Amino acid sequence: MRYPKAFESLIAHFSSLPSIGPKMAERLVLYLFKQDEEKLIAFAESLEGLKHLSSCRECFYISESELCGFCSDGSRDRSTICVVEEPLDVIAIERTGSYRGLYHVLGGVLDAGKEENTLRVTELKHRIADSSVEEVILATNPTTEGDMTAYFLRTKLADLPVKVTRIARGMATGGDIEYADELTLSSSLENRKALN
Ligand code: ZN
Repeated sequence: MRYPKAFESLIAHFSSLPSIGPKMAERLVLYLFKQDEEKLIAFAESLEGLKHLSSCRECFYISESELCGFCSDGSRDRSTICVVEEPLDVIAIERTGSYRGLYHVLGGVLDAGKEENTLRVTELKHRIADSSVEEVILATNPTTEGDMTAYFLRTKLADLPVKVTRIARGMATGGDIEYADELTLSSSLENRKALN
């Protein structure tokens, strides 16, 4: 064994994270090892805090209670739902400051490794049917999979009395909403096109 057990175990946890290789994991653990106890405790506590978070029962955004901050906020516009792939996209759209509606986090996109029924499409249909939603904005990423998913959603929502729009191609094809700058994303939302 090269390292003490606790060290080795933490390296294994870090290496299991996306984009972190074994060498980087070693460096991160060594860095943590050099920190004072107070900092380590704060780090451990925030990690522990993740256990108390779950997904909003309406929109599946990250939430501390049954409903997330958006769904429980009475000042949000309930006639619009913006459909995104992941929670990080919600943050990117919020940063633009130009959207005041609700969200729906799909939990991914259609691709070779993803079954259609793992996306929260049925839940989206129920939300539309049960409420006063007038418009659904499809804000999946402008990638091949994102476009394919938007097309698939348009078909799935075709029998519901709701306007379906797709964000404009302001962003370069293949780009990610998560990394788009605020101005581009904002104009992409504003110039959305009707799909039905
Ligand atoms: Zn919510």
